[in-house]
Amino acid sequence: MENSAQPAWDKNWTALLACPACGASLAMSKETEIICPSCSARFPIRAGVPVLLANPTTAETKTQELYSDIWNSYKKKQRRPSGYHAPATSHLELLRKASDSELVQGTAGIDAGCGNGGSATSLARQHPGIRFIGIDLAASLQMAAILAEDVPNIRFVQGNLMAPPLARQAFDFIYSFGVLHHTRDPQTAFRSLLERLRPGGRITLFVYKDFSDLPLKKILLAPVTLARRLSTRLPAPLLRKFAWCGAPVVYITLTWPARLLRWLRLNRLARHIPYGTFPGIRGIAASLEDRFGAPYEHRFSLSDLQEWARAAGLEEARVVDCLPWGFSGLVLSGLAPA
Ligand SMILES: [Zn+2]
Repeated sequence: MENSAQPAWDKNWTALLACPACGASLAMSKETEIICPSCSARFPIRAGVPVLLANPTTAETKTQELYSDIWNSYKKKQRRPSGYHAPATSHLELLRKASDSELVQGTAGIDAGCGNGGSATSLARQHPGIRFIGIDLAASLQMAAILAEDVPNIRFVQGNLMAPPLARQAFDFIYSFGVLHHTRDPQTAFRSLLERLRPGGRITLFVYKDFSDLPLKKILLAPVTLARRLSTRLPAPLLRKFAWCGAPVVYITLTWPARLLRWLRLNRLARHIPYGTFPGIRGIAASLEDRFGAPYEHRFSLSDLQEWARAAGLEEARVVDCLPWGFSGLVLSGLAPA
């Protein structure tokens, strides 16, 4: 099958963008370029994806390369759609259950850190009247744009969540799964995202927890954090070898025992086992690469996120531990203040 026609960026969507350098509105100068009339910055459009990046730090460049590589490598051989063996079988289901509300509302929204765009595209298919923008630092979006070619209500933008190149107060919802903890300053990223919402717009996000409520887990996490000091410096091919060697070990020593415990109906015990809900080795390898390769990894307590919500004036704020749904992390949700 030939796929020579690259999807074009649709100029009607340019009003939803903003300059990553100065925040001004952008304009299309030609089919493959967007310009900022205010600061004269120029940004390429590659395979239908505006690349709106300005001055990334070294660690951000590394983050970008890591996730471009992970998404492009692990999406290839998906033999069967396999969800988590947990009360929430997917990321989106978890965000919905933990926030106790629909993620999607109004007329336009953002998947912040959308990876390969798969879940945003499926959500866009379910809501044809709503415009979706998937934003990510990784270049995997160019593939996402091609795969979502037949979905008219989604577009992808390559950008940094520290200063999302998206228009202020232009969106009705934002959701983000497992991304903010890999940014340089997650609370700043959270505030920047919140500024993209109209008053009353909904934000829902999942981040890693610090296990300050579970001392034993916190102790077990310490060597992992120590190992990251070395592993985040590994060259990409070596990191991948490490992940693929580690994945079967994790599968046998953690995932299988967790399955056995669930089979014995010891669910409360099973849900404390890391990687206990993963469907297979491929997913574990991708996750190990993510866990051990990402330059930034921040962790939070319930009270940290309650403080984010309070400081931002979030309405109907809710912070919950995701353990009941089989995920080790926290969900923060609420509405942008008027
Ligand atoms: Zn500008």
